Amino acid sequence: MNRKVIIIGSGPAGLTAALYTARANLKPLVFEGSQPGGQLTITTDVENFPGFPDGIMGPELMDLFRKQAERFGAECYFEHVTRIDFSKKPYRVWVADKEYQSESIIIATGATAKMLGLESEKELMGFGVSACATCDGFFFKEKKVLVVGGGDSAMEEANYLTKFASEVVIVHRRDEFRASKIMIDRAMSNPKIRVLWNSSIQEIFGSQEKGVRSVMIKKTDSDEKFEEKCDGVFMAIGHKPNTELFSKTLEMDDNGYLITKKDSTLTNIEGVFACGDVQDHVYRQAITAAGSGCMSAIDAERYLENSVE
Ligand code: NAP
Repeated sequence: MNRKVIIIGSGPAGLTAALYTARANLKPLVFEGSQPGGQLTITTDVENFPGFPDGIMGPELMDLFRKQAERFGAECYFEHVTRIDFSKKPYRVWVADKEYQSESIIIATGATAKMLGLESEKELMGFGVSACATCDGFFFKEKKVLVVGGGDSAMEEANYLTKFASEVVIVHRRDEFRASKIMIDRAMSNPKIRVLWNSSIQEIFGSQEKGVRSVMIKKTDSDEKFEEKCDGVFMAIGHKPNTELFSKTLEMDDNGYLITKKDSTLTNIEGVFACGDVQDHVYRQAITAAGSGCMSAIDAERYLENSVE
């Protein structure tokens, strides 16, 4: 069946695009990807989404987004798009061997947590190494954990982990944080948190059987190296846009973020729109992602109206 709109991704951007296109009677089909609800499903309290004065848990907020879109007819599937063809219309999208066709496509595939790139980090991922405190913090009751990074994510993860861990050590490669003042103040006033400044992790020691045992720290301002004992390591060093699928098709910047035309969500291919973190490395907030999801739905609606032969 030829669809009017296919939405790839289901974070605040994708599900807001789904809500708006559903209310415009475009019967959107949403492929939710491997992390339905997007990055907010691996966060805890969301305190800065307007309309929730007491805050709301990330997964709960995303369930509400989905419910609201489905109420107006959006079809959301827990499927991962594996291939696309935007060379001619209708555009084609595959989930494994199953092909779908659509007049327009909205891309809202978001971004993914970055890792340090160590072999030991890969090997111990899920065995003491994590990029999601909300998912894995519970396993570190009364343990000592490290959090790598100096941005808002690192502060947030560190604070969250103090609910479980006996000690949280933030490992940062410089001598100042880039996080916002309020987040830094919150972390620094938490008695369970301390900081290893000018430090980078060179190796993570442990095994899949016994978990993480320690890390090798190298000072960035000297040649000093030392082993730091710990039971877990949480990465909070930023994100990378999920754009591999579009690498030969859509224009991207040097960091792989999709490029959209000024004041719109239009990509370089007509009828293909991008919204949310996949095209935003500046704001990266749930509310801005939702806003751009709304923009892409309106852009798609106008495109479909004007492209009727
Ligand atoms: P970020 O702001 O890009 O910070 C990444 C941190 O990781 C930086 O401190 C960076 O160090 C460090 N880093 C990067 N690569 C590294 C490497 N290879 N080895 C060691 N350290 C490395 O990312 P983020 O903290 O994920 O935040 C992203 C955006 O989301 C920001 O705009 C942030 O405000 C927002 N955010 C907001 C909230 C909230 O308000 N509740 C929560 C989370 C995130 P340098 O400082 O030296 O570059």
